[in-house]
Amino acid sequence: MNFPIKQFEGSLPQKTVMKGEVYWRTGSVKEIYKDERGHYIASVLGQDLYQVKLTMEGQIVKHHSCSCPHKRKYVCHHIVAALYEIENGFVEERKKPVKSYNSSRKTWHQLKGLLTSLFPFSF
Ligand SMILES: [Zn+2]
Repeated sequence: MNFPIKQFEGSLPQKTVMKGEVYWRTGSVKEIYKDERGHYIASVLGQDLYQVKLTMEGQIVKHHSCSCPHKRKYVCHHIVAALYEIENGFVEERKKPVKSYNSSRKTWHQLKGLLTSLFPFSF
């Protein structure tokens, strides 16, 4: 199955994409590199450590395989996790998902309150 790396989410079954995204977000892609022939090789942790191989021509994913029991022509979630990794790091520089720091950021009012409770004589 050939599909463009940029729209792989829309080219694959939604369930597989969602599961693969969770794998990717939880850091299941342990290693990924591009070998000298341009193949992407990834180690993805599932029930076991599986090896995903991807071959791309330009922006099109031409071949894919995974060593997990789901293999065959079917694209498994390990492959999807590797695709996310490539899409977000290797193929082009794209902004990583912005993490929210708001929850841990204290407002000045809260900070002043905290300082006052710690150093009652300074304020
Ligand atoms: Zn797999």
